[in-house]
Amino acid sequence: MSGGAAPQLRILATGGTIAGQAASASDHVGYQAAVLPVQQLLDAVPALQQLPAQLHAEQILQKDSKDLDAGDWLRIAQATAAALAQPQVQGVVLTHGTDTLEETAWFLHRCLPAVGKPVVLVSAMRPAGALGADGPQNLFDACVLALSAVQIGLVRAGAGCQVLTVAAGRVFDALTVQKVQPYHVPAFSAGEAGPLAWVEQGQVRLARAPCSPGPGQDEPWAEGLWAPGHYQALLRAAAQTPPPAVAWLSSHAGFDARQVQALVAAGFEGLLVAGTGNATLHHALHTALCEAQREAGVAVAVTSRCNAGAVVPGPAPNWPLLPLPPAKARLELQLQLWLQRIPFSAAGSV
Ligand code: ASP
Repeated sequence: MSGGAAPQLRILATGGTIAGQAASASDHVGYQAAVLPVQQLLDAVPALQQLPAQLHAEQILQKDSKDLDAGDWLRIAQATAAALAQPQVQGVVLTHGTDTLEETAWFLHRCLPAVGKPVVLVSAMRPAGALGADGPQNLFDACVLALSAVQIGLVRAGAGCQVLTVAAGRVFDALTVQKVQPYHVPAFSAGEAGPLAWVEQGQVRLARAPCSPGPGQDEPWAEGLWAPGHYQALLRAAAQTPPPAVAWLSSHAGFDARQVQALVAAGFEGLLVAGTGNATLHHALHTALCEAQREAGVAVAVTSRCNAGAVVPGPAPNWPLLPLPPAKARLELQLQLWLQRIPFSAAGSV
């Protein structure tokens, strides 16, 4: 589609089950993800042609999201930023695997400037030809969401909820979205926060009041915590600077401190530790972390391995608390250390 004054949506395809193919329509497990080209996914949804927008598609990756790495995140973020910078582009829809969607969403939230245009990550739990394939409906819903998010006040310049996800009709933001189901549809949840909105019958229904016109105290990014675009310097400079090695480990009964020693010996620069309960650590882990920090300068941050509620910070924490689910907390620590590695001249103003 081309020409005319209609708004444009950019569809950037990265792979995942939404582009997957199985030998049998009833096989939801033994299929190959990231096979079909993006044009084939769009052609399977004729209703997209009824939307008041031109769709421009580009295949930027073709991968199972379980295999993504930091270089892929950079590529996705740079392609998204380039699309958002074009005045005629109203929003970006990113097709993606479900497995690490929350990490890519977090990367984009923290690296893209909050220009007030929606970036919608869309995925599927069933390969394209499956009985009950969910990809076509999700793709349609993602385009509807990208076209309405500004109008209904869900996305606005400078606010934190520019990066959205939609699957099975439920809309989440980058902060709260988590894959919680290994097999069933729906697979995503925001836990106690619930969805931001639903897409129903081509309409977006808000679950609560949209972003306020000024920073609201109820927004976690209002005080600067989790601000959108905080690491945007990485988009300019990270390609020349390899990402630091950051591991994620959990505290558990019977913890063996050799895990920490092996990671330090292997050269890991950061350790994100998912503690028990209120981010508490097994005594052997605690001792090993103190040693790793003191003797090898390893950066340590903690979160909780509980996936509901919020850690209540204690009076004198040993290490910074990153109150995010472990996959996002590990990425956040990696982004912090990555930015520190970039020479100031290359990073420019953040
Ligand atoms: N392994 C697939 C992926 O994340 C799973 C999916 O998309 O549902 O790419």
